Amino acid sequence: MTVGNMETAALFDAGKKGRGLRASRELRAGEVVFAEPSFSAVVFDSFATQVCHSCFRHQAKLHRCAQCKFAHYCDRTCQTACWDEHKKECGAIKKIGKAPNEHVRLAARVLWRIHKDTGIASDSQLISVDQLEDHVADLPEGDLKKLQTDVHNFQQYWSHGRKQHSADYISHIFGIIKCNGFTLSDQRGLQAVGVGLFPNLCLVNHDCWPNCTVVLNHGKIEVRALEKIPEGEELTVSYVDFLDLSADRQKKLKEHFHFDCTCSHCSQHIKDDLMMAAAESKPSADKVKEVTDFSKECLEKIDKSRIQGDFHEVVKLCHECLGKQENVLADTHLYRLRVLSVASEVLSYMRSFSEAAGYARKMVEGYTKLYHPNNAQLGMAIMRAGVTHWHAGQIEAGHSLICKAYAILMVTHGPNHAMTRDLESMRTQTEVELKMFKQNEQEYHTMRDAALKKPVTSSS
Ligand SMILES: [Zn+2]
Ligand SMILES: [Zn+2]
Ligand SMILES: [Zn+2]
Repeated sequence: MTVGNMETAALFDAGKKGRGLRASRELRAGEVVFAEPSFSAVVFDSFATQVCHSCFRHQAKLHRCAQCKFAHYCDRTCQTACWDEHKKECGAIKKIGKAPNEHVRLAARVLWRIHKDTGIASDSQLISVDQLEDHVADLPEGDLKKLQTDVHNFQQYWSHGRKQHSADYISHIFGIIKCNGFTLSDQRGLQAVGVGLFPNLCLVNHDCWPNCTVVLNHGKIEVRALEKIPEGEELTVSYVDFLDLSADRQKKLKEHFHFDCTCSHCSQHIKDDLMMAAAESKPSADKVKEVTDFSKECLEKIDKSRIQGDFHEVVKLCHECLGKQENVLADTHLYRLRVLSVASEVLSYMRSFSEAAGYARKMVEGYTKLYHPNNAQLGMAIMRAGVTHWHAGQIEAGHSLICKAYAILMVTHGPNHAMTRDLESMRTQTEVELKMFKQNEQEYHTMRDAALKKPVTSSS
């Protein structure tokens, strides 16, 4: 059933995958295939007082809704903008005296919206919300129990005159949210702060090596082409990070989204060999196994220490692990990359920028061999590596990495995204510093040293 239309993409029957979207004409790399506001969205419980319930920005000072005392907003403008969506919710929260959890809040928002606008909110929406897949039948026992609790809480909370829904229909809505909900991040893309339902996005099928990417930009999601896409080709995004063995990605996809990935990268195990490769010096199979097992255990310890905030222990463990991995695991081995990632992040947090930069560079080299050249995660890792080099006073490498990251984010995030803008100003600034460095190296270092004594202005 076609209920709307879009100039760039059209619904089609994607065989075993069900419905899909394909390009209605040739698309350029970086082109926005479509942008879509959420049908409904909510802030996570844990961020309810820190993030605006209208624009999802992190703000130091938010105004509280005087009625329910639950919703928080930047200002009157944000509050007025979403009063229509909050009105029913506000009354319901006041009535039961406490806001229910995020799943219940989202399900209620979805249903209030369906009552108001039907399941179709705009002309370009290609599918009605309640026609999306729910996979309730595939849920394991534990999840079903949680679902029943949510349905029960929903019934306490729901108010819409006398209009009541069957437990089955409410479960259907919860199921839709569970397997189609898209996590919303704050304005810098650093923290997951909420979840929303974007009906057209739900029609874009998964591929581990997709031709599109999805990004949140000024409150809307944008599906952007990662490369030139010929007319008629299916549009895909990835629901999981590529840096996992194909079997592990397949397992995650089965667990969370209830399908068996048969994408070409999974069925041909593309790049699995690189992600498990031994170093070029050809160590013995026993040695590789020993170091792999050691790394696995060590990564668990690293995670633990990190959660406890014991960064000195994290650094010690990373050093030990990287030492053992040297000449045994290849630079593209997943365990090596994971340790390098933690080491560079924690060391730069501890302001050991030179050492952090060395690890960040190795990490980026490995990532570049594994990721699609326009992968958003790759772009952001290169950005962090660039900033670390810059802080370490390695201005040439820093500037070059920042330029590389900028080129990727222009495709994945577009010129108006907050992060791309940050990168643009860093690019300009590092260019000036680079000129200075080339003219007078001595003076440059004196200036850097002075600048580093002041607190570094964070890029985030
Ligand atoms: Zn706001
Ligand atoms: Zn309120
Ligand atoms: Zn796959």
